[in-house]
Amino acid sequence: MKTIHDILKLGDPRLYEVCTPVLREELPEVPVWIQQLHEAMEDVRRVYGFGRGIAAPQLGIMKRLFYLQLDRPYVVINPELKGLSEEEFELWDDCMSFPNLLVRVKRHQSLSLHYLDEQWQPQVWKVEGAISELIQHEYDHLEGILFVDYLKGLKKRMIQSKLIDVSKGKVSTDYRMIYPLK
Ligand SMILES: [Zn+2]
Repeated sequence: MKTIHDILKLGDPRLYEVCTPVLREELPEVPVWIQQLHEAMEDVRRVYGFGRGIAAPQLGIMKRLFYLQLDRPYVVINPELKGLSEEEFELWDDCMSFPNLLVRVKRHQSLSLHYLDEQWQPQVWKVEGAISELIQHEYDHLEGILFVDYLKGLKKRMIQSKLIDVSKGKVSTDYRMIYPLK
């Protein structure tokens, strides 16, 4: 049973790795991975009342796979982002791997998500706004990109000490996390 404690935290080198595609012959593994992602996200939702998406590498599963819970569950295998709009919007982003840290980021307003579903069927999903943001966030995890990496210069220095605190487990949370630098 995966819980909130199994979610990798800032500083864990696996969060910075590029994930490898899910292979056709790995499809029987997908329900197992999805079950684990589902359990961990449900635990976050229970504790915090939020959580719409989780990427496989956040549980140390280094595969191009993420799982969303919106109007229904979405299993997204080997996603590609196409038709990224020039129009961008800014918002406060959060992440289960950075407890209690919100960062201002810019995202594309709309895009087309191309992916395989849990039946290995190709799907195309045009999204905008909050869902577009969510998908860009989860996709970044598969590329080993964390949204704090978008911060530059002064802003990054300003939150640097806070980031170090997070990675050392100094930020108070309502639950125990695995902190690699501790
Ligand atoms: Zn995240």
